[in-house]
Amino acid sequence: MRSPLVNRPPSVATVGLMIEHGVRARVWCDTCNAAFREIDLVRVAEVKGLDFDLWGKATPCRLTPGCNGRNQFYHNARGYFCPMR
Ligand SMILES: [Zn+2]
Repeated sequence: MRSPLVNRPPSVATVGLMIEHGVRARVWCDTCNAAFREIDLVRVAEVKGLDFDLWGKATPCRLTPGCNGRNQFYHNARGYFCPMR
């Protein structure tokens, strides 16, 4: 299920907009209690393009070797970190 559009600040629509607006992104794991990792959005933009959209994306856990959890993205467009989904 997608969150209602109202939950999504316009400044997180693409990686390019996040960089432009100074929005930061982190990943947290839903399974292990590993510390978050800050995402280098400039690096993401280099690899995926400025139009890449992190919303609703998750990756296999990269924070703890052997963890089967998922890493989900969070943004701080509202001044605190909220899930990107
Ligand atoms: Zn994990």
